[in-house]
Amino acid sequence: MKFKIALIPGDGIGPEQLSVSMNILYKLPKLYGLDVEYIEVEAGDGCKAKRGIALPDDTLNILKESHACLKGPVGETAAEVIVRLRQLFDLYANVRPIKSYPIPIPPLRSDVDFVIVRENTEDVYRGLEFKLTPDIAICLRIISRRACERIVRYGFDLAMTRRKKVTVVHKSNVMKISDGLFAEISRSIAREYPSVSLEEMYVDAAAYHIIMDPRRFDVIVTTNMFGDILSDEAAALIGSLGLAPSANIGENFALFEPVHGCAPDIAGKGIANPCSLILSASMMFIWLGRRYNVEASIEAGIDLEKAVFNALSEGYATPDIGGRYSSREVAEAIASKLKGYEY
Ligand code: ATP
Repeated sequence: MKFKIALIPGDGIGPEQLSVSMNILYKLPKLYGLDVEYIEVEAGDGCKAKRGIALPDDTLNILKESHACLKGPVGETAAEVIVRLRQLFDLYANVRPIKSYPIPIPPLRSDVDFVIVRENTEDVYRGLEFKLTPDIAICLRIISRRACERIVRYGFDLAMTRRKKVTVVHKSNVMKISDGLFAEISRSIAREYPSVSLEEMYVDAAAYHIIMDPRRFDVIVTTNMFGDILSDEAAALIGSLGLAPSANIGENFALFEPVHGCAPDIAGKGIANPCSLILSASMMFIWLGRRYNVEASIEAGIDLEKAVFNALSEGYATPDIGGRYSSREVAEAIASKLKGYEY
């Protein structure tokens, strides 16, 4: 089958990350016999400045016809772009792998490998806020059975492919009704997966253990805001946001993007770490392969991650992780590690 993939360069370092990665994005399908069409579309601050809208209809129409999207970070208009896309495409699972790579500067931890699965559609991020009086503001926290069931099931299915442990993170001792529902659903779904062990942890304890004992985690499943905060904390363990990819997964469409923002402080200097985008692309090929039963796409995604690992282990690294190479040099080194790659 032919995969249609929309590419959103985004803002700040986004266009640089994407442009140095294009070689990989074209070579990979060729090497693995995949039929892939890329379509570049606009969204973000640059698009809003030029066209008055951050997420125009022509972009949305292309996304609707695509199987997946690879997106660079977006600046001030992030809420108008990514929050809207999550809602429009019902991208309910935000998946953030936290994995150590061999990098020149010693990271806080060099032995980390777990995944945070964050519910992506509700909780306090639904945007239901209002003023009760001029001095009292209310923000509603929505936790529904449907959203809990599908995110917990996603976490357990993922754990089945890994070390078979799920840590469900909540705060049901305080938010007895909302997180009580999430915890109760987690326990009931856990019974469907007898080979996966379930651990429950309050979010404050999880924040502590992520630093002190990250090896205890395999898959963390949590609600939207807790997952947002814990995943940035966890990314610090591995040395740089420039190594942190993510996926926003729905039933029929998924969007892959670096965890970080558009890093205006280093934009235009050619030193942005491209790995977060390239690892997001690796996740995308694995997801496409699993979703559409295309084994070669899974293989391509897995091998792309190995190529990143191998290039980093030979010292091809950008300055954020202690290296002296440019974005393009690192991306080319990764490309050279792909099976049969020719310049
Ligand atoms: P935004 O307003 O878009 O969130 P920000 O600068 O506040 O931008 P991030 O973009 O997430 O937040 O960046 C946080 C820090 O991490 C910055 O110092 C940035 O330079 C650095 N950083 C983020 N991504 C990368 C990357 N890919 N390579 C190197 N450094 C990065």
